[in-house]
Amino acid sequence: MTYQTSRNFDHLTTTPTPEYRAQQRQKAEEIFSSFKNKRENREDYLSDSKALKEALDEYEKIQDWTRWNGFGWDFGVIWTESFYYWMQTCLHSDDQEMRAKSNQADEFAIKLQNEILFFELKLARISPEKQSEFLSESLLAPYHHFLEKQFASSKYLLSPEWEKMMNLLSKTSYENWESMTAKFLSKSQREIELPSWKKQATLEELLTYTCDKDENVCKQAIQAVNEIHLEAREMAENEINSILEYKKTTDELRWFSSAEEFLTVRDDISLSTVQTMVDAVKDAYDFSRDFYKFKADLFWVKSFSYSEKSLHYGTLEKQYSFDEAVNLCQQTLWKWDSELLDIFNKSLEDWMIDVFPQKWKHWWWFCTDSSKWLPVYILMNYTNKLRDVSTLIHESGHNACNQLQKKNLNALEYWAAISLAETPSTFYESLLQDSLQSTLTDEELLVYRVMILDDMVATVSRQVAEYRFEQDLHKLFREKWYLWTDEIWKLFIQHMSDYTWEWIHYDEFDANRRISRSHTRMFFYVYSYASGYLISQSMLRKLKNWTLTIDQVKKFFASWSSKSPEEIFMDMWIDITKKEFRDEGLNSLKEYLNETKELAKNLWKI
Ligand SMILES: [Zn+2]
Repeated sequence: MTYQTSRNFDHLTTTPTPEYRAQQRQKAEEIFSSFKNKRENREDYLSDSKALKEALDEYEKIQDWTRWNGFGWDFGVIWTESFYYWMQTCLHSDDQEMRAKSNQADEFAIKLQNEILFFELKLARISPEKQSEFLSESLLAPYHHFLEKQFASSKYLLSPEWEKMMNLLSKTSYENWESMTAKFLSKSQREIELPSWKKQATLEELLTYTCDKDENVCKQAIQAVNEIHLEAREMAENEINSILEYKKTTDELRWFSSAEEFLTVRDDISLSTVQTMVDAVKDAYDFSRDFYKFKADLFWVKSFSYSEKSLHYGTLEKQYSFDEAVNLCQQTLWKWDSELLDIFNKSLEDWMIDVFPQKWKHWWWFCTDSSKWLPVYILMNYTNKLRDVSTLIHESGHNACNQLQKKNLNALEYWAAISLAETPSTFYESLLQDSLQSTLTDEELLVYRVMILDDMVATVSRQVAEYRFEQDLHKLFREKWYLWTDEIWKLFIQHMSDYTWEWIHYDEFDANRRISRSHTRMFFYVYSYASGYLISQSMLRKLKNWTLTIDQVKKFFASWSSKSPEEIFMDMWIDITKKEFRDEGLNSLKEYLNETKELAKNLWKI
């Protein structure tokens, strides 16, 4: 069977005409200002549960308000407009007009959201006695966790005037710095000589070429990447110091006692849960160290340079047409659950996947999850490689989760917690592994397994090393108030060599690589990759030894943002606060490494 593989924007609306847009925007303004006028000067819902329920119902409808937009679809008008143009820019990154329209639509949407910001600020100020009363009210049960999160953030909130000022200043003190470096890097290009032609390559492309099979291409790419980073070095020193100072100042104003404490609010997770995971992975660094030793043996080298650490081992010539990939995914899901298979099939039947690369299409892959009422699209750049098959099922994992949540959660619960965002997707990827492995010869299987191990190390050990680097970076800044590039260099290399050991060696350029990592600027985001991955591995293990059912997994997919991560896993009898639980996940990675070593020995590769 052949599938329609290009996105059909009729799902959203037809291209918005100026008249249509103006009309819809006017309706949006009316609804938002009606909510504002009705609620801003009232206090009854801060003390009376019935009044609060009424206000929350209305607030939830605002997220959902556009269902009457006349198209018979359940999608939000303002966000639809914004989403439509944004998706268009992903497909046509050269289209300046689309980009401008997308920015205008965003600006309008944000302006409207700001109109009703007062509501959540007010909720957070409900007195502690009233808070516990409201949380035990069955009338408010549908909004229980939403309220819990609002109340948890209340102790860090400033007065409304201060909050407004903080919002205004964050653009100049933080976002502008960040986008300056990002812009500089994305504009940087260097000429590179490929086997058959020369091309101007962007930093992003150059980074991909640093893992190229062709030694000459690889060398040129590494040199070019180093040059670009070196040029940005001084600017980046100023940037990172400003960002660290901004973080320090805002944390102090909000009475956060450490740089990480804000995670309890942003990610809805306790700091000790995160730290337990970080410590468990650090204590199991022998996994990543062993892996690099094994990889060095496979390549017959003593050690790798930092830029060579992700070199691909071997090549998988095997090609998978998109139809074959679809088949493999279907087989995998069919084995476990018919509803999950239906969700996957529906995304194909409804033409929600944009599959193949095109000129000006963004090179990345993603699955959208903008709001409860917007459709879920998957964007990929399918090139018939085995990795693309994994990506298809990875993004379909996000999709399955979003679809189940849409059925189950109200619009206020729908916003997903970062801390678990990658769990369903990596879980799906692991489900596919068995089906994929059966399509490979032993030689190919070794190449495949080394690739998976590379991913495991990058997702678990490296992210934890980066998280620990970030912790120390903030601490050091708070002692010294300014950090020279060399100090940052030392700290970065110290944490990186901790997980790679002597199997990776570092030179003076390597620490500059952190400049292009946008994650450092998003503050303590990286732990979520490691945490989500370890959880998905444990879930898979439990599923295979019958201590977890697929229905429980689906329940988790459908409701994970309606409770805290700790609570939602306790429903499956999994205690993510315990180190033993993390060790279990880490042990399965070690086992996978040992099995792969055995395979390599049997094939006389080491
Ligand atoms: Zn993902």
